[in-house]
Amino acid sequence: MRVYLATGNEHKVEELRGLLTDCPVALYSAKACGGMPEVIEDGETFAANAMIKAKALLAQAPIGAWVLADDSGLEVDFLGGAPGVRSARYAGEGATDQQNVAKLLSAMNGQPALKSRAARFRCVLCLLSSDGAATFFEGACEGTIARAPTGKTGFGYDPVFIPQGFHASFAELGAAAKAELSHRALAVAALRAHLKALTDAKYDETN
Ligand code: IMP
Repeated sequence: MRVYLATGNEHKVEELRGLLTDCPVALYSAKACGGMPEVIEDGETFAANAMIKAKALLAQAPIGAWVLADDSGLEVDFLGGAPGVRSARYAGEGATDQQNVAKLLSAMNGQPALKSRAARFRCVLCLLSSDGAATFFEGACEGTIARAPTGKTGFGYDPVFIPQGFHASFAELGAAAKAELSHRALAVAALRAHLKALTDAKYDETN
């Protein structure tokens, strides 16, 4: 089974490859079929945006290939679920991670209690079969928004996100902790189980 990854971000390709190592599927970067096309991510949900990216790449992928896309972001309860699907451009189109984090901390100003700073990272994966049928997998990681950034690893909102049960941010905890706890790792675990069942069924059919 050949699966093309609908992202222009080579870090994500590597991360997904690492999380799917024990899966009997061949993963290809979008670069291997002409590069990730420009898309307008104007869906109102992570699933809608993942589907937009997956469909765009399926249109140029080789016949018989499948496509996998992801969309993710941060949902803050006090902000009614914002920044949500707008996480990457919360402080404006082309905003840096630092600008997005600064805007988030200022929007949370005056919310001292931890429970009023509840938030979660959410990730939705969309797997499109070669005939265009979509299956979705979701992962969420609960936590709270810190009062100031700490830590040096990761990206995005990692320096201000403290996962439930910890006293340090994702940026302090590092990649190993994220590989176990993160929204993306949980969504990939659900996908991995589905892919294994699919490929086992195919093996049984041919034997
Ligand atoms: P996308 O899924 O690449 O579109 O990510 C959207 C945005 O959500 C990113 O630019 C980050 O701001 C935020 N985000 C998603 N996942 C993470 C994460 O694991 N850590 C920190 N920020 C994240």
